[in-house]
Amino acid sequence: MRVVTGIPEMKALAGEWKAAGRTIGFVPTMGYLHEGHLSLVRASKERCEATVVSIFVNPAQFGPSEDFQRYPRDLAKDSATLEREGVDVLFVPAAEAVYPPGYKTYVEVRDLQDRLCGRTRPGHFRGVATIVLKLFNIVRPDVAFFGAKDAQQTVTIEKMARDLDLDVEIAVCPVVREPDGLAMSSRNVYLSPDERAAARVLSKSLAEAERLIREGERDASRVAARVKDIIAGEPLARLDYAEIVEAGTLEPVAEVRGDTLILLAVYIGRTRLIDNLRARVEEISSC
Ligand code: AMP
Repeated sequence: MRVVTGIPEMKALAGEWKAAGRTIGFVPTMGYLHEGHLSLVRASKERCEATVVSIFVNPAQFGPSEDFQRYPRDLAKDSATLEREGVDVLFVPAAEAVYPPGYKTYVEVRDLQDRLCGRTRPGHFRGVATIVLKLFNIVRPDVAFFGAKDAQQTVTIEKMARDLDLDVEIAVCPVVREPDGLAMSSRNVYLSPDERAAARVLSKSLAEAERLIREGERDASRVAARVKDIIAGEPLARLDYAEIVEAGTLEPVAEVRGDTLILLAVYIGRTRLIDNLRARVEEISSC
């Protein structure tokens, strides 16, 4: 595995691969890798001839009172893990190279960026869209792999790719969970043992939503109310939001029909966790 820190070097390498007709798969991450990240790496290795993983804790997507400074980092361990996975290039750009003094350009995906997590984290999706577009321009992937865990992020990136005519396929991979259901996240290390136990409430409440929908409940407010009740029953949990939205636009829905997402953000102590459930409900049409 080659470790690349320079942007010009990464561009040159991508250019060589393009010229040789090799398909490039790309997995952008903030590091502190877990099985969720590795599922994306494996999907890329399966589909593409060269795989690039980036590790960059992107200051532009953290608010001033968020956890940028204490975000977990372990480059040596991540690098060894990616080497074992057979990744071709680990790209680790320096923040000063990505955002040099006088940097001025940002990408906004209007409306999508303001909903849900965007309300609690203003500027977050602007930071995400900007870094992802920059990384796409440097790595020039044919396919970029994202996790369904960050549902609003994938919808935002897909929209940006369509709106800006990007020549990249956005591949979305399923949420990888711990055995008890908690969605894997680099931030799970923040949780104390009690908080870790309490964090199960996210996936538990989504499983209950899934059960209700399976049994025929179509009233989105009733499903959301049940999810909120379950979160409220966990003393260490504080709800940020629980919403049911149309999967492509993230617009709230009154009925659970077609392709919907049930999205959840919950504080467990000081740690904010997200999770979601995709509910595809077939319409039964009569003729
Ligand atoms: P992050 O390092 O948190 O920015 O995540 C990098 C990529 O890994 C994003 O596309 C995430 O959606 C994806 N990812 C993070 N956690 C999981 C998970 N539990 N399952 C699947 N993908 C994930």
